Order: sequence, then C-alpha cells, then structure tokens
Amino acid sequence: MNVRNYFPQKNELLDSDKFIVLHKNQVFVRGDNFIWSRAEVNALLGANLELLKIDDGEGSYILLHSQEDITDLIGGESRSLRSLLFAQGDIAFSVVGKASQILDWYNSHRYCGACGAPTMPHEAQRAVVCESCKAQYFPRINPCAIMLVVRGNEILLARSARFKGGFFSCLAGFIEVGETAEDTVLREVKEEVGIEVQNIQYIKSQSWPFPSQLMLGYLAEYKSGEIVPEPGEIEEVGWYDINNLPNIPAPGISVAGELIQLYVNHMNSMNT
Ligand SMILES: [Zn+2]
Repeated sequence: MNVRNYFPQKNELLDSDKFIVLHKNQVFVRGDNFIWSRAEVNALLGANLELLKIDDGEGSYILLHSQEDITDLIGGESRSLRSLLFAQGDIAFSVVGKASQILDWYNSHRYCGACGAPTMPHEAQRAVVCESCKAQYFPRINPCAIMLVVRGNEILLARSARFKGGFFSCLAGFIEVGETAEDTVLREVKEEVGIEVQNIQYIKSQSWPFPSQLMLGYLAEYKSGEIVPEPGEIEEVGWYDINNLPNIPAPGISVAGELIQLYVNHMNSMNT
C-alpha cells in the first residue's frame, strides 16, 4: 500500500498542503518565506511539473519542480538553495536541505545506470525503478568525517584552497570504501597536514546538503609530527590559541563551528 506517497499526483493535492517551488537549483521565495500555500500555487498547476513529497519534523511538504521557467506563473523571486540555507535558521536548513538533496537525486536518476532505460517512481518507497531491468535506485548519502585536531589550548585550523576570503575551519574528508570513520580521521589528518593523531572521539553528526553528505564530527588529539600542508588542498594551516582564533564558521550552521565552540568552552571551563 502506498502509505507515504513520495510521488503525489496533482489530483491528490489537499488545500492544507504546503509547497516548496523549485526551478533547477533555484527556490522561489517571497522575502524570506519559501513555503507556499495551495491557493498560491494554483496558477502553477497547469504547467509541466514534477511532484515530490518530503517529510520533516515540522510536517510534510510537496516539492513542485519544473524544468521550464515558471517565474511568470508563481511570482516572487528565485534564490539559490545555498543562499537561502545560510540566510535562514535550522528549519530552513533542514527542510530546504532535504528538498535540495531529494531533487538532486531524482534529477540524476531519470535513467537506469545499469541498462540505460528510463526509470519510474517506486510504488511504496522513496526510490525509482528501471522500467526494463527493474533495478532500484534510492537516494544516496555520502559519509564524511570532519575532525578538530586539538593540542591543549591550541586547535589546528586550515584554510582550504577552495575557500575564498580567509575562512578557517576543521579538516574533513570523504570516508573511503572499507574504512571506518576513525580510519578516515587518521588518514585525512596525515594526508592533509602530515601529522599523527590519537584518542579520536565522536561528537555529533550533521546532514550537509552540498550535495548530499552526512558529516560525522570528531575531536582528535595531536600525537606527533610537524605540519606539512598538502599542496593544492590547503592554502594555510596552523595551531591557533583558543583565545585568539581567526575567522571561523558560526556554531549554528555547521558542525565545524560546533566542534570548535565545544572544545573552546571545554578548555575555558578547565582553565578557570
Ligand atoms: Zn535498467
């Protein structure tokens, strides 16, 4: 039985449904409000739309997605998912982040990776099925380890060659096939800055929708070695006193910021 109905039809929509309207990687908003009512999206329903349903702690939302430009039908303005995520708080991060990941998965699985035939929605699950060979494709999450390396009152922070504008953060990397997350912490720290760590401690995780990661956050103690930054990856790296930190991510938006704040608070409470 199709209980969850991940792929609703237009004629199944209810007056009480809430909508998120997307065109390519843009989400339509009025001011900061990205949730639309049934009445507000009525004019859209004649367009060529795809409907996907997502659930969140706050309820469920219908994603209305079109390959066509629907600006004239919906009104409002369009913004990138990334700008909306960073402008808003936790709820937007959760809902829009989920919407972005589901849409990204759906758009990249229109054809079967095994035989090339078109896919169709699964009857009961959030998955698509190949019309020909019946292979099933579920949304995939890519696990990453993110680690704050600590040494007493100092923490190791790096500025990636990819980040412009002087932003320092923890080290991070994708978990490779066959690795535990702790293996990844050891390997990434060694590869990126050339040092050894010990006493790796799991702290918390976070969904990160760029494009579809699960970040597993760790603290790791310095063990040995001198910093040797990996060329091309790390622009600048060093040990920073917890009372004199460079420009770092805010704790509310990323697990990196939370790891840093957690350790700084911990050390400050130990030092007093
Ligand atoms: Zn197939």
